[in-house]
Amino acid sequence: MNDMIKTLPYEEIRLSILKWYQRNKRILPWREDSRKNPYKTWVSEIILQQTRIDQGIPYFHAFMNRFPDIFKLAEASEDEVLKMWQGLGYYSRARNMHHTAKVLVEKFNGNFPQNRRELLELKGIGEYTASLICSVCFNKPYPVLDGNVYRLLSRLSASQKPVNSAQGKKYFLELAENLIDQSRPGDFNEAMMDLGATVCLPQNPICKSCPLNSFCLAFKVKSQDKFPVKTPKKPLKNRYLHYFIVKDKDSIVLVKRSENDIWKNMFQFPLIEKPVTGKIKCSEIIQNFHLKSLKLKFLYSKIHILTHRKLHIYFYSISDLDLKNDKIPADWQKIPFEEVSKYALPKPIEETMKLVVSCEF
Ligand code: SF4
Repeated sequence: MNDMIKTLPYEEIRLSILKWYQRNKRILPWREDSRKNPYKTWVSEIILQQTRIDQGIPYFHAFMNRFPDIFKLAEASEDEVLKMWQGLGYYSRARNMHHTAKVLVEKFNGNFPQNRRELLELKGIGEYTASLICSVCFNKPYPVLDGNVYRLLSRLSASQKPVNSAQGKKYFLELAENLIDQSRPGDFNEAMMDLGATVCLPQNPICKSCPLNSFCLAFKVKSQDKFPVKTPKKPLKNRYLHYFIVKDKDSIVLVKRSENDIWKNMFQFPLIEKPVTGKIKCSEIIQNFHLKSLKLKFLYSKIHILTHRKLHIYFYSISDLDLKNDKIPADWQKIPFEEVSKYALPKPIEETMKLVVSCEF
């Protein structure tokens, strides 16, 4: 064990955190059952991987209303699951959840395995989620480290190890393994997450209300803002997407994304992706989609950021195309306007669709 880690008063820290938790625990819908439900814990966790708690709660309620248990999720169609997920992003997580729900029903009678190794074999359940389910639902002493907990541990130990490096992750995991309460690991993990999220804030942590202020090494030397240390991120990869709104008075054209890429199996407008920036020409569209002729109008462009990508999205309308008689590509689906809401759309497409439906384009 690292020398500095050895010097922390683990028992006192542990007791202080649990005492604080008793009085300050956040009331959250997935924490309502006295015996924690692994299905709810799992769903809430996957939702919270991509959104803040206040934004995630309505999604959690809607998801639970539609899929109240693992059996209902397993028997749903993928399109329906993606539709419920619409707006949250990271659609591969919804697809993985759906796949895992089917595996749990087929191989485990709808139960979650209590063994961490078996949980890790399920698609979409990584180290973090497996530890959360094991500790919160099955009382097993695996620490859970989210961004808030990394920040808290980094300040508590005043460590120069970058929290986003392999070396830093190993260090903070070891620290958390030493800190975790063996008899109440679920409460301990939730307490750390709550303390990180509500007191040890990224900016202006509320140190005077923190139960750890007498142990915190960053607080001691008034350098809370120096932690956590992070290595600079890699620059985002640029992608240039040109979308075409093709419609007549009753319907609009959508295309299903089937490639192994972002937004797999969701629906979008006809697309041409280019390797470089710059607007598209009419001739390129005619050639790409094998169309006869068309009228093109540029509408607007926007930037959409994903974890590793910066999407430069351009929207155009195409007119003078007779959808009934002109030969259109086989994957273009004419969807009546009143049915568009049944289709799962990536966020930028959904936003533009709203403008189309309200006749702004
Ligand atoms: Fe965070 Fe301040 Fe508490 Fe240290 S004392 S853990 S910096 S809130």
